Amino acid sequence: MIVCKFGGSSVADAAQIKKVKAIIDSDKNRNVLVVSAPGKRNKEDEKITDLLYRCNEMVQKGESCKGVFSSIQKRFLSIADELKIDSKALLMQLEEIRQHIDAGRGADYAASRGEYLSAFIISQYLDFEFIDAADCIVINSDGTVNPFSYDKIHMLVDNSNKRGFVFPGFYGSTKDGIIKTFTRGGSDITGSVVARAVNAELYENWTDVSGFLSADPRIVEDAKTIETISYNEVRELSDYGASVFHEEAIAPVVKVGIPINIKNTNRPEDKGTLITPTAEAEKLAGVSAKGGLSRIKIRKLMLFKKQGMRHALLTMLHIFGIRPSFSLFGIDSIVWFYDTKMASESILDAMCERLKSEFELDEVTVDHGHAILGVVGSSVLKDGTYIKAAKALSDSSVKVSFLNYGASDVSYSFGIRDEDRMRAVRVVYDALFR
Ligand code: ASP
Repeated sequence: MIVCKFGGSSVADAAQIKKVKAIIDSDKNRNVLVVSAPGKRNKEDEKITDLLYRCNEMVQKGESCKGVFSSIQKRFLSIADELKIDSKALLMQLEEIRQHIDAGRGADYAASRGEYLSAFIISQYLDFEFIDAADCIVINSDGTVNPFSYDKIHMLVDNSNKRGFVFPGFYGSTKDGIIKTFTRGGSDITGSVVARAVNAELYENWTDVSGFLSADPRIVEDAKTIETISYNEVRELSDYGASVFHEEAIAPVVKVGIPINIKNTNRPEDKGTLITPTAEAEKLAGVSAKGGLSRIKIRKLMLFKKQGMRHALLTMLHIFGIRPSFSLFGIDSIVWFYDTKMASESILDAMCERLKSEFELDEVTVDHGHAILGVVGSSVLKDGTYIKAAKALSDSSVKVSFLNYGASDVSYSFGIRDEDRMRAVRVVYDALFR
């Protein structure tokens, strides 16, 4: 069995869904589909998921979501119409969904309906069985997948006599049966979960690019496609901002070692990128940089004399909604980097006050506009490329605020300013990949 996950751009309209059918028809082993909600058809367009979130927000504010919902309805009906699918059942589904959103069932329910309807339509078009993720994927409160899900999916697929199956991506339910979504882009995770459950020989992840590139093509126009890359390297590259594959989607397949092929729905003949359990012979995979980070700096003489101090400080940060993605320690200081969106200025003021008074800190400051640039590859700790990368950054006057080398076997990273992000990726790419 090959599990094929089709992302939002691959199911954005009827023309794209026809390409999906051609891909499925070209290989009889491609019989398990996981689909996203229709994504953007062009740059100005809006994703169905974004529109559904907006409907929920309007309802929560006591406004009517009628206008936005009718544009969602129009889009699904036009897809069904062009694919020549009877719209009676679809109309009933849409009406029921509108009522539930109106009744305030919340963000997760509303957002999940994009993939639900997408899978509902595509299963009819292909004459495959529709399997609702809410009936078989249990998502724990920390967002991880409950292992019970694998047996349930396996059983549902095994007991069916249909030739193929369509699962909606992005959501499942809590153990109490309430609809819960993964984080944004989470249909990739569903694909991995289903691939593991059915013991797939391959997990194909169909999108609108022909695989992972060694740098963001908006920054390096002629960036090379990566032919093969390991699970670990993908996680690291995604963490540094490469957005082709959800970084949490590796976890379900790690134990079973299913290879993942990133493929392009618009150019199915391209080989794409093959993600494998272990790294190939030593090589560099890619460079990527993530911006939008803020920095908290804490200073206190003899900071670490008191046991459990680090833990207590971190707990305080969590109370204010800040979960740092990166930390550095000095003899009397700690620096944490976190996503700027996690806290407003007023929350930060309150947090700094509290930290200062509760821990008698000498200094606590927060500043914004940071980024982190990572170089990923199985060879990075042996080939000395970090010297070349550092020189390239310094030659082009990119100020480096820290270097993280050795924490990972397959990457190293530099702290830089957000405004230097694109230039930094370009010069490091030129120095290491050309
Ligand atoms: N539709 C969801 C999103 O836009 C999930 C996905 O496409 O993977 O985030």
